[in-house]
Amino acid sequence: GAAPAPEPAASAAALPYQDPSLPVPQRVDDLLARMSLDDKLGQMTQVEKEALVPQSDLATYRIGSVLSGGDSTVSPNNAQTWADTYDSLQRTALTTPLGIPMIYGIDAVHGHNAVRGATLFPHNIGLGATRDADLVRRVGRAVAEEVAGTGIDWSFAPCLCVVRNDRWGRTYESFGEKPELPTAMTSFITGMQGTTLGADPASVLTTAKHYLGDGGTTGGVDQGNTELSEAELRAVHLPPFAEAVRRGVGSVMLSYSSWNGVKSHGHKYLVTDVLKGELGFTGFVVSDWAGVDQLDGQSGFTGAEIATAVNAGVDMVMVPHDYTRFLTLLRGEVNAGRVPMARVNDANRRILTKKFELGLFERPLTDRAYTSTVGSAAHRTLARQAVRESQVLLKNDGGLLPLAKSAKVFVAGKNADDIGNQSGGWTVGWQGRSGAVTEGTTILQGIRAAVTDPSRVTYDRYGNGIDGSYSAAVAVVGETPYAEGRGDRPGTMGLDQEDLSTLARLKASGVPVAVVLVSGRPLDIATQLPDWRALLAAWLPGTEGAGVADVLFGDHAPTGKLPVSWMRSASQQPVNDGDGKSPLFPYGYGLTYDGTPDPDPDPDPDPEPVGGCTADFRLVNSWPGGYQAEVTVKNTGTSPVSGWTVDWDLGGATITNLWNGVLTVAGGRATVRNTASNGALSPGATTSFGFTGGGTPGTPTPRCATG
Ligand code: BGC
Repeated sequence: GAAPAPEPAASAAALPYQDPSLPVPQRVDDLLARMSLDDKLGQMTQVEKEALVPQSDLATYRIGSVLSGGDSTVSPNNAQTWADTYDSLQRTALTTPLGIPMIYGIDAVHGHNAVRGATLFPHNIGLGATRDADLVRRVGRAVAEEVAGTGIDWSFAPCLCVVRNDRWGRTYESFGEKPELPTAMTSFITGMQGTTLGADPASVLTTAKHYLGDGGTTGGVDQGNTELSEAELRAVHLPPFAEAVRRGVGSVMLSYSSWNGVKSHGHKYLVTDVLKGELGFTGFVVSDWAGVDQLDGQSGFTGAEIATAVNAGVDMVMVPHDYTRFLTLLRGEVNAGRVPMARVNDANRRILTKKFELGLFERPLTDRAYTSTVGSAAHRTLARQAVRESQVLLKNDGGLLPLAKSAKVFVAGKNADDIGNQSGGWTVGWQGRSGAVTEGTTILQGIRAAVTDPSRVTYDRYGNGIDGSYSAAVAVVGETPYAEGRGDRPGTMGLDQEDLSTLARLKASGVPVAVVLVSGRPLDIATQLPDWRALLAAWLPGTEGAGVADVLFGDHAPTGKLPVSWMRSASQQPVNDGDGKSPLFPYGYGLTYDGTPDPDPDPDPDPEPVGGCTADFRLVNSWPGGYQAEVTVKNTGTSPVSGWTVDWDLGGATITNLWNGVLTVAGGRATVRNTASNGALSPGATTSFGFTGGGTPGTPTPRCATG
């Protein structure tokens, strides 16, 4: 369902950049040629929604992007109001002479988490425990639908951080400690963007973050220094980004951290040479929140910082507040020649390409068909499945779990009946918070729904009132919400005093205790573990607590595997697979109910995305001044493809004659679309088209896209 066209752009005599039938590179060229310097600098500027006062500044300053930081909200906080807010901002952006739409970004990092009532999935550490890349792709798609339902175009996710020290406050944003896990879970990108960006209205731009080495800082200090040789940095931290680029990730966000003392935001080698050059990243690089203005170690922009960052390869600066000062300084650097115009044009080309590909020029307003997917039953069912698969059973003496549904159960612990605690940080607010912050099912509610007679379930947060008449106690303990550096744990990593007191009351009763640990990372629990008959790591499951109950009562046998090594004590940090240390539970550990755990800790491969395709170029013949070639398109997906396009760089050659396809040549690239006769392509099938032309085509690598 396409959204209505914007009022200002509904003009009959379309300029080339407004013509959706033209190839994107040609539209970008046409638009760039019409833009003033102010238009271009504005595209490179991203402003926090709350800072845009008056809202007309969006048009006055030609600002290209708006974001909501973790604490940004609307009132009332619901999907409808978010969509209205988006549309109002977009309408303002479209009032500029060229009518370039803004692109709106938000941290939808475990669901559309700023929106009250959205479906919240397990944080990444739990998704890493599932080892199920196909599930994570479906999660990505569900999140995209909810985000699209509020008009928002872009999410600052997934975090591809490889966590190497669990003291880090962002450990839960990581899929795991070995590069294989975040690499496999880049399937999230394909889920969210679709196989072709913008091919359908729920396609949302993703962000691989934070480039590079954010999870590898010394001491696990947030925004710290990653002290590694280049070979180690590449081996541990680069692979997920390489895979993200291969999957066509639209943007990359830089890390606040430094590599051997040099901040990523000013690291030309890492950003321009490695990411854009070596990995061939063609999307755009966005800074982190105020990441440019902290380059000199002090807050507040200087022209020198801006020049350093933009020249290093930053295409869009997340300002986020003082945009007038930022724009004045950036203009000064350009006018003084310290930021070359070629760099400004390259940044604009990258940003505008993604705006065109997303379909923002054709569909700038919210597609309300998706608004009702926010918190939908279908998405909650998927989230519950993700919760089930993310549970890691670490201990189960005497087969205490699964509990009988008829058992008399005592439930205790501060995380048993608290939707905010089980969702963690980045939940309706940057830091998250305890309490009924959003809608969903608490773990206690899930337990009550799972048993045959809810009156046999007693709950007391502190464990008061337990006696020997119960068959089991379930203690749901662990961490309370935090985000980023506020979650760093440089000292102890144990349970808090409340949890220890609750557990002591349960122990005194003599009733066997199953502990459900709700936490963003492993905790230092080796001393208490002998008191517990069972231990289930639930991570930060999100809004669907029923998924935990499904495992406790045996509706789903646990299959999760540790995405990180579990420390023997806090002083053992950092502890990682293969480092020769002896953790309490190794990476990949996880029991099942029949006692024969699958020892394979590797992620399941993501089946090729539905409708994916590849294209191969073959030179058939050549002669002085001419050639004949063939391109073969293959459906590598799992469902039939009804349309595809292939485009490639002509490298100066021409095409004079083409059969079996519809050809456009523009901006040095050839684009071929399927025609009715050869359009339908079943999974695994191929189709070819041939052509002759002038010049020498070199060895082009065509891009294939479906839809
Ligand atoms: C975080 C990013 C986030 C950004 C925007 C920063 O503090 O480091 O991960 O995307 O804020 O909210």
